[in-house]
Amino acid sequence: MRILVTGGAGFLGSHLCEYLLMQGHDVICLDNFFTGSKDNIQHLFTNYHFELIRHDVVEPILLEVDQIYHLACPASPVHYRYNPVKTIKTNIMGTIHMLGLAKRTKARILLASTSEVYGDPLIHPQPETYWGNVNPIGPRSCYDEGKRAAECLMMDYHRQNSVDTRIARIFNTYGPRMAENDGRVVSNFILQALRGKPLTVFGTGQQTRSFCYVDDLIRGLVQLMETENLHTPLNLGNPDEFTMIDFAKLVLELTESHSEITFLPLPEDDPKQRCPDITLAKNVLNWRPTVSLHEGLKHTIEYFRKKLFL
Ligand code: NAD
Ligand code: UDP
Repeated sequence: MRILVTGGAGFLGSHLCEYLLMQGHDVICLDNFFTGSKDNIQHLFTNYHFELIRHDVVEPILLEVDQIYHLACPASPVHYRYNPVKTIKTNIMGTIHMLGLAKRTKARILLASTSEVYGDPLIHPQPETYWGNVNPIGPRSCYDEGKRAAECLMMDYHRQNSVDTRIARIFNTYGPRMAENDGRVVSNFILQALRGKPLTVFGTGQQTRSFCYVDDLIRGLVQLMETENLHTPLNLGNPDEFTMIDFAKLVLELTESHSEITFLPLPEDDPKQRCPDITLAKNVLNWRPTVSLHEGLKHTIEYFRKKLFL
């Protein structure tokens, strides 16, 4: 198949391009390089089946494709809050353009949605049936509400125009190729530990997250895309839940770092808890994560160690 990956030069997108090429597909990677980089995909440039297009999904584009993985959107709070208007435009206009492309070409389309659609959840762990607790006007809204609008567009194009849609609600995912300036907690703590700098825990560190290793996540995305007739959202994530203070201690242990832990103010609307209910993915896709946080962190630490000290 000829498969379009928007946001293909980013962290998840670059792993996905690689995986799809390995499966024997032709891959078109589309990216505006806001948070992605050519470094992430330069090893694919010599592959005859790989094409790169510099393009912004806020503008329409004419292509002929069989499948679309729509990932284009900054994922780190630091980056999506940098230009919130652009973030919501990317989510809404970008998704409309990709859905238009899917409608014209009859391509199946998968949206990379997020656990952020659950906001600061009042139900724990979060099943797909939970409608969420999202502040519609806060500093995270450009992302949270942007993704909720993108999900709405996916469902409406499916119901109204029979577009063959898939929606993945991705929970915190980490691994090699997270950018050094990404600003999310996994890369922040690892880099701080390796540099001997204090680990910056926001708030008291009692808030929780559940971290999924990138290889597990990519496998889940492709399995979801290949499943027939599943148009409603599906959670993909690792249900092992950690407080941020425990997570900081684990990073210190695995990096053998003597860094201190310092406490900084909690960002506004930071969700207090997050953990996926993955019953649906287990039942429908027979998918579950296989990489433990220990093992995944070791690979990720190795990646950053090489980047810093080579
Ligand atoms: P990332 O920032 O590394 O990748 C996003 C990519 O999209 C980058 O290459 C960026 O340059 C590109 N991009 C951004 N705006 C664009 C635009 N207007 N036009 C074209 N390209 C654009 O982030 P990631 O972690 O790889 O996330 C990929 C997708 O998965 C995002 O949609 C994100 O919301 C979703 N997601 C990720 C996580 C996670 O933990 N990694 C969790 C939930 C959802
Ligand atoms: N966080 C932290 N220190 C950092 C970066 C993030 O304590 O240097 C916290 C943040 O407040 C949140 C959690 O770690 O509670 C996960 O943050 P991240 O930005 O990785 O993802 P998200 O909040 O979108 O889940």
